[in-house]
Amino acid sequence: MTPFSYRRPASSMDASALAALKGHKLLGGGTNLVDLMRKGVEHPTTLVDVTALSSEIIEMEGGGLLIGAAARNSAVAAHPLVRAHYPMLSRAILAGASAQIRNMATVAGNLLQRTRCAYFNDPAASRCNKRQPGSGCDALEGFNRYHAILGGSPGCIATHPSDMCVALMALDAQIHLAGSAGTRIVPLADFYRLPGDSPHLETTMEIGELITAVEIPASAMGQRSAYRKVRDRASYAFALVSVAAGVSMQDGTIEDIRLAFGGIAPRPWRALQAEAALRGGPATPEAMAAAMDAELAVARPAAGNAFKVELLKRTTAAVLLELTGDRS
Ligand code: SF4
Repeated sequence: MTPFSYRRPASSMDASALAALKGHKLLGGGTNLVDLMRKGVEHPTTLVDVTALSSEIIEMEGGGLLIGAAARNSAVAAHPLVRAHYPMLSRAILAGASAQIRNMATVAGNLLQRTRCAYFNDPAASRCNKRQPGSGCDALEGFNRYHAILGGSPGCIATHPSDMCVALMALDAQIHLAGSAGTRIVPLADFYRLPGDSPHLETTMEIGELITAVEIPASAMGQRSAYRKVRDRASYAFALVSVAAGVSMQDGTIEDIRLAFGGIAPRPWRALQAEAALRGGPATPEAMAAAMDAELAVARPAAGNAFKVELLKRTTAAVLLELTGDRS
């Protein structure tokens, strides 16, 4: 590992000033960044420890939650308000990583974790446009079972690895940012970039900005919500596909719906077309199949992951049938 220095600022503005400096990287729980430093993917000159920033989980006036950026994943999953009002989020977090990693990992770190593409993580022997812009992408013709079927580009087909962020996408979360120009709030839907021809740029954050909190608006869909993850082994594995869903029903009709997918795109994928097709209609297998056909019409699987299209359709239908079934 390349030698580095360590700073621990007391305020978000001090952290922001340090984050703007060349070679400085923000350190949360370190569960991803330290791994990448060991592998030679990341070479920060200075780690800026931001775990002293807010880790509070606060109920907002009028409903909704404000989760401090330094809140540990395990604390969020176990929080009574999250479990009562956003069970989908609690389940998504518990579906990720291991208990030890969840105890260390922070909410902001979860949002900003890097892809687990094997070629990205192998600087000694692999070409990767995300790690080294313009160098090529060994995943395109290589082992791409875990890669994207939606949102990729000829430059990169990596997937975003988070489970938590899939639930946050379905919950219309907003990201609170602080930087030298002040503070701002960005919808999670606008937070991640698709790779296009610059896969090394992953978010819309400015240089020197940092995440201070995640806001989740009040939701009426908490009681009919679910997160389901399909993976190669029962625990400690990234998603092949995952589905976060919440619905509200009125007389057998889907009154409203939130649907997001993981494991299939460079960012947590909000299924707006499927939502629009299902909203106001019957909760039938036929309607769900038609909605997923619409959502996946632009899917572009690679040679090794065409199975994800059908797997995602079936997983989504199973989740929605369970959520929309008679609960009387
Ligand atoms: Fe790199 Fe993206 Fe290609 Fe993986 S898919 S090797 S992250 S450019």
